[in-house]
Amino acid sequence: MARVVVVGGGYGGITVAGGLDDIAEVTLVEQKDQFVHHAASLRAAVDPVWSRAIFMPYTRLLRNGRVINAPAMGVQGNKVYVAGHDPIEADYIVFATGSTYPYPAKHMVSKSAVAQARLEQTRENLKNAEKVLLVGVGTVGIEFAGELSSAYPNLEITMVEKQDQILGTHDYTDELRKIITKQLEERGIKVITGATLGYNPPIDMGALSRFQVETTNGEKLEADMWFQCYGSQTASGYLAAEFSDVLRPNGQIKVDKYLRVEGRENVYAVGDITDVNESKRADAARAHARVVVANIRDQIEGRSPSTTYSAGKEWVILPLGPEGGASQLVEPDGKVRIVGADETAQIKGTDLMVSMIRSQLRLP
Ligand SMILES: Cc1cc2nc3c(=O)[nH]c(=O)nc-3n(C[C@H](O)[C@H](O)[C@H](O)COP(=O)(O)OP(=O)(O)OC[C@H]3O[C@@H](n4cnc5c(N)ncnc54)[C@H](O)[C@@H]3O)c2cc1C
Repeated sequence: MARVVVVGGGYGGITVAGGLDDIAEVTLVEQKDQFVHHAASLRAAVDPVWSRAIFMPYTRLLRNGRVINAPAMGVQGNKVYVAGHDPIEADYIVFATGSTYPYPAKHMVSKSAVAQARLEQTRENLKNAEKVLLVGVGTVGIEFAGELSSAYPNLEITMVEKQDQILGTHDYTDELRKIITKQLEERGIKVITGATLGYNPPIDMGALSRFQVETTNGEKLEADMWFQCYGSQTASGYLAAEFSDVLRPNGQIKVDKYLRVEGRENVYAVGDITDVNESKRADAARAHARVVVANIRDQIEGRSPSTTYSAGKEWVILPLGPEGGASQLVEPDGKVRIVGADETAQIKGTDLMVSMIRSQLRLP
């Protein structure tokens, strides 16, 4: 049987591993002890039920293959080096190690119990805070502001954005920006654009202690807690030695239209780690994974890879807490449609896509 090693068990990695389990001997290498559903992690910072629900076991994902909970340290030839294990030989390797993001959007720690304890401490701190500062008004900052203002309506929230407009980084429409701006205003959230912090606050993110800080425009701000809502970093450091020829300066790995790592026959990459030119999204990671599953199946069955991937138009679902928000959707004919709070709550706000992920992990 062909041996497939998938490195990274996020949205892309579990889709590849699950999709090849019936045809190959699959090993999924994941440094965390549980799957983390990041798309719901901001609600987990304010809601005790969600801070358990975002962590899900890998135990039922594979019927035939195995999951190794340890970090991959490097890859040489057809061997994947994993901390505490003998090198694992593979016929096909898939990189799916995604990206990191400052807490609480993503968690660095490998033990879910430690991550849950930190979330609990954050909620305790938020209960005692009067003012919170969020730096960055992109999708994460906006979604977090929505969760904070829904769970703690008396919290005074200030947001600071370096660019001249919110949601400045991708192909979002002005209509979406307008609706979100209005909803943030209605929640009493202050948004400062065209400035960032002159220096970082003197306390850790998520810690509780009153501080003052100044923006680059000279405005003085005071808060009890702060969070950095920007700074995604590609998690490809373990590839630096063997794959330096195909790593971009931002750490993303170059892939061809089959999502094969450039110049490699049997090595693929999916999700945030790839240099596919689109916003980094879980649904894109899953779509990449389906392409890679089809192509590795082709190769296992003696054919050339035949399925290609091309990025579609940008879309985003932006809940502001369980009931607010707006979304930029793309219709089947390619037209962009903006929808408001009700539809956004239906698509993501209420369930945060948790049932879909549970079913993918074969959990009840
Ligand atoms: C707050 C927030 C909300 C979001 N909401 C949405 C949304 O609503 N819809 C949407 O489509 N997208 C959303 N996204 C984006 C989405 O989370 C990412 O695009 C997605 O996580 C990418 O999936 P991935 O499989 O590429 O990588 P990741 O999900 O980052 O998973 C990578 C995995 O690899 C593991 N790993 C890393 N390095 C190693 C190593 N050396 N060895 C072993 N394992 C390793 C990590 O522990 C991790 O489990 C959101 C992101 C955030 C931060």
